[in-house]
Amino acid sequence: VEDTATGGDHRRRRRVLFFPLPFQGHINPMFQLAGVLHSRGFAITVFHTHFNAPDASRHPDYHFVPVPDDDGGTPTPGDGGAPPAADTLHVTLERVLAVNRACEAPFRELLAALLEQRRDEVACLVADAHLLTLLDVARELGVPTLVLRTGSAACFRIFMAFPMLCDMGYQPARESELDLPVRELPPYRVRDLLSTSAAGHAVMSEVISRLVKAVATSSGLILNTFDALESAELASLRRDLPAAVQVFDVGPLHKLSPSPATSTSLLRQDRRCLDWLDTQAPASVLYVSFGSLASMSATDIAEAAWGIADSDVPFLWVLRPAIVPGSGAGAPPLPDGFLAAVDGRGVVVGWAPQEEVLEHAAVGAFWTHCGWNSTVEAVCAGVPMLCRPWFGDQMGNARYVADAWRVGVELDGEIERGKVAEAVAAMVMDGGTRRRARELGKRAAESVAGGASGVNVDKLASHIMAL
Ligand code: UDP
Repeated sequence: VEDTATGGDHRRRRRVLFFPLPFQGHINPMFQLAGVLHSRGFAITVFHTHFNAPDASRHPDYHFVPVPDDDGGTPTPGDGGAPPAADTLHVTLERVLAVNRACEAPFRELLAALLEQRRDEVACLVADAHLLTLLDVARELGVPTLVLRTGSAACFRIFMAFPMLCDMGYQPARESELDLPVRELPPYRVRDLLSTSAAGHAVMSEVISRLVKAVATSSGLILNTFDALESAELASLRRDLPAAVQVFDVGPLHKLSPSPATSTSLLRQDRRCLDWLDTQAPASVLYVSFGSLASMSATDIAEAAWGIADSDVPFLWVLRPAIVPGSGAGAPPLPDGFLAAVDGRGVVVGWAPQEEVLEHAAVGAFWTHCGWNSTVEAVCAGVPMLCRPWFGDQMGNARYVADAWRVGVELDGEIERGKVAEAVAAMVMDGGTRRRARELGKRAAESVAGGASGVNVDKLASHIMAL
């Protein structure tokens, strides 16, 4: 594959075009995939919005094409995409549709111009599954398309089953039925599905049907997952998708990509916390992070803080500056007396080098929102999880962590200091969960070292060459 992609004297180098959705959890796996294909000899062009634009200087080998996306509602660049309103999912989904609308015309023009110069080189476009409009544009201009879905295979099953879930009354979810099992999609309960506010249901339905269409009309679905983690879910997708859509499970991408994780971080990662971890005992530290989009009230932060303080466990806590909506760029409000109470037992940072933190020997547990990237990173590091999902696919990911793989426990309901302290202390003591987490981590490492993931990347590279 390498020879054909790089091209001999007789053949031009093949180029793969990428278009990530401009959120941290989507940018990271897209660039990891680009890194993997670049190392297989492909040339890379990245189309990107101005909002949350990647730093081109960190990828000198790639060609970047900025696409104007100013629709009047763009949040400040570099804020990690935290929307101001309480219903984060609804706002984020509206933003996804706005990006599609705003980029359509400029992307058409920019892609046509690129094709005029380099049509022979261009092999395909790999776009985020949320960018249906842009995938359509590429197909209209004769460019084959592949879709990267940055969530789990299990989550994509929910998307495919969504009309059935609505017909059967699972969606929109009724308050009284939240704990009922979804028999058609075990191990999910109704509350694990992608619930949103009543106002958000229509936009969510639209976004999901666009996601499924984006995949069904493409030549392949690329997932950041692997057989040791989701073998039944992958088999079911392969059975249910049209035959023309091949499924490539090329995860865990962060383990396969040669590019360092720092290269795509929208926020500056505070690396001093790694020095502090060096001073801590093995498997002793609780790492706390809720990703790039989840928002918290000042009360949530206070309850979490006092729970962590009362657990008596050493901790590293990521509190993004924008985590409290409307609180501005300053440090988020920790309750008075908290830092004195924990007295050097922990460190609070604005953003951490998460992959390295999770791999650090001192980290013994991860209190996470269960974003898919964080989940895969923790699985690979063999770190048990305390799951406190916020929205979207996070509840479903938590269900898999707690009930399918049994490498974590869930913290249900409101964040309350007593519950937090108890859950953290129990987590640190829980040998069974820790053992299973380490075993799953080993299986992930075998998938990388034993070559299963690499073989799937080779298949993807051959597929791209044949398009
Ligand atoms: N991340 C990071 N530093 C942090 C917290 C998170 O670099 O302090 C990275 C993390 O490694 C992951 C991504 O940000 O790759 C978050 O993606 P995820 O899907 O977990 O959550 P989202 O931000 O989309 O909710």
